[in-house]
Amino acid sequence: MKIDRNKKKHIGILHKALQEQRLSRQEILLLLKSRPGLETDLLFKTARQLREKYFDNKIFLYGFVYNSTHCRNNCRFCYYRKDNTLSKRYSKSKTQILDISCKLAESGVHLIDLTMGESVSLTKNNVEKVFELCNIIVDIKKQTHLPVMVSPGVLSEWALRQIADFGADFYACYQETHNPDLFSRLRKDQSFSQRLAVKQKAARLNLLTEEGILCGVGETLEDVADSFDAIKKLCIDQVRVMGFVPQTGTPMENHPMADVKMELVILAVLRLLFPDRLIPASLDVEGVGGLEKRLDAGANVVTSIVPAGNGLAGVAQNSLDIEDSRRTVAQVEKILLSCGDYEIARPEIYKTWIKQRKKENLKEKIKL
Ligand code: SF4
Repeated sequence: MKIDRNKKKHIGILHKALQEQRLSRQEILLLLKSRPGLETDLLFKTARQLREKYFDNKIFLYGFVYNSTHCRNNCRFCYYRKDNTLSKRYSKSKTQILDISCKLAESGVHLIDLTMGESVSLTKNNVEKVFELCNIIVDIKKQTHLPVMVSPGVLSEWALRQIADFGADFYACYQETHNPDLFSRLRKDQSFSQRLAVKQKAARLNLLTEEGILCGVGETLEDVADSFDAIKKLCIDQVRVMGFVPQTGTPMENHPMADVKMELVILAVLRLLFPDRLIPASLDVEGVGGLEKRLDAGANVVTSIVPAGNGLAGVAQNSLDIEDSRRTVAQVEKILLSCGDYEIARPEIYKTWIKQRKKENLKEKIKL
């Protein structure tokens, strides 16, 4: 009897979500507790229906250029933390970055994601370094005709303004958790409020923003619900959840890997709460083998496409599927075809989405 009541309640909440009615915190928590089997099947189905409403069966692809693995920070979960002597450090030249970006563009990605560890010179407004980054953004856009996302860590408002003025489309900066205590344990000696505020500043400059949640790092379901609230307040345009993968040489190397089922549930609830936003299925956790389940849970962007032969690293899995050329558009396309339900979007569809979103957001974000 009780089981039937729970099932009915679950279906009722999903029905509300499908109608895009506001869900209460209790209802969101109940969805986060969805049990494997019928409950998760229905949750994922609802997430897919909402994705289809806004994006049809179209999937966007992001080319990933991790152009510098040097970082001034010591995040406990990250392979590239400053103190990890095992991590391979490199810094690609402008010519190399442009060459890789052009290869990615030719292969058919919709956006170039320029990611780097947080550098002292960028954070401290070193004018030469900031303009170096700006010029790279300009040249990538000129040569690839694609939108550009930058993830340089926390920047000053002045530096953000420069990258916005020089044509960056997206600014990504993941909080990973919106619980300040957990944040201070994960991102040691970094400011929770500064990292949160930088996304508001970026949004006011009409940069599209991406926020991220890391799961399996000691968060509670209440923490996840808090992250959803924070994402709503920040008017985020793209939001990713990624399961924790233990990294050798870090203080969390013996911490268990995140439960993929939980990552998928969070992803699906994100789609229910933010139906018209971009939600990535990252190749960085399980490689191409993990793509289908993330798309089936409601993702509509494939991130971390990395060309082989350029000595580039990934983030959570620094080498998985890269040098054997499995993180490519061709491989992703094969998987999309085998799933039968998805299609790679034409480039104009992505560009139109970006343009539209910037226009819609202008008024909304100025209020932030
Ligand atoms: S997560 Fe980012 S900021 Fe933290 S150590 Fe890694 S590269 Fe640096």
